[in-house]
Amino acid sequence: MTASREIHLAARPQGAPGPEDFSLVEVDVPDPGDGQVLIRNAYMSVDPYMRGRMNDAKSYTPPFQLGQALTGGAVGQVVASRNDRLAEGTWVVHDRGWRELALSDGKHLRPFDPSLAPVSTTLGVLGMPGLTAYFGLLELGRPVEGETVFVSGAAGAVGSVAGQIAKLKGCRVIGSAGSAAKAAWLEELGFDEVFDYNETDTKEALRDGIDVYFDNVGGSTLEAALAALRLRGRIVACGAISQYNASSSPPGPRNLFLMVTKRLRMEGFIISDHYDHFPAFSADMSAWLRDGSVRYRETVVEGIENAPSAFIGLLEGENIGKMLVKVGAAA
Ligand code: NDP
Repeated sequence: MTASREIHLAARPQGAPGPEDFSLVEVDVPDPGDGQVLIRNAYMSVDPYMRGRMNDAKSYTPPFQLGQALTGGAVGQVVASRNDRLAEGTWVVHDRGWRELALSDGKHLRPFDPSLAPVSTTLGVLGMPGLTAYFGLLELGRPVEGETVFVSGAAGAVGSVAGQIAKLKGCRVIGSAGSAAKAAWLEELGFDEVFDYNETDTKEALRDGIDVYFDNVGGSTLEAALAALRLRGRIVACGAISQYNASSSPPGPRNLFLMVTKRLRMEGFIISDHYDHFPAFSADMSAWLRDGSVRYRETVVEGIENAPSAFIGLLEGENIGKMLVKVGAAA
């Protein structure tokens, strides 16, 4: 047995989550049995989709259970192994975050070489959010050189990568984000136009028209993008974070009929259906990071005990780039 700490769901949040919805629990983790490994997490991810799993509602993944540890993306090192494929010392990406030590059956783990990039990037630019941007933009948005691409939530983990890939494909890129500091970073990344949606009306910012909308936000931003899209424009329905804390479903965009008159295409996706794109993504993204054509930032909160505030902060826009929690010592 080894002592560990983990975060449990103490209550289902009503509206925006608060610290009272989480509890820090000390547990004893058993030694690995046959086929199992014990992983010491270095970083864990907090992601917007976790808010949906805190509701007792049917969705594409089952809800988190009250009084039990939360789960999610994490990266760590195998510290004890009874699995022939996973020697002690192996670095793995896996799905048992929100805890210091994770006992795993050795399935659903992705071993990787920690000498190639900082281990934290496996949860961000080289991991699920990076793949989301890559797949969503290229496969569903299908941007063509010279077109205008609008990305909302542009200073976040997914949005910052989607915008940079659109630039690489020769597009003009407009990004929206919630602060001047975020807008300044996006300008540094080479976005052609950037606006703080708290200061500038989205419709006004998009007045010259767009061809592709990479939607991370939904709500009134989606409505403004529908109005701005040109004939045969595409909407990549990636997320709708403006609505994740809503207790009832808001009405859809009032101008949805524009889908018909402008022959628009809107397609949603869940990235876990598309991991067959991971090898191509990994090769392209590694090359783009090496030659500096894609850059990334991370906002790192220290300590498992601060994971709830990192998650709350993510929904409140405290992150620039990927929001992570540093759980323990990293390589
Ligand atoms: P981010 O790093 O973008 O963090 C979330 C950001 O959302 C905050 O920093 C905040 O930035 C913004 N935000 C919060 N509330 C609002 C609001 N009311 N209006 C506008 N922006 C808001 O998170 P991710 O990059 O991980 O995720 C981005 C989106 O992609 C989310 O919608 C997520 O659910 C979705 N997603 C979808 C996946 C899929 O498979 N379809 C996979 C992964 C992510 P700001 O300061 O700019 O407001």
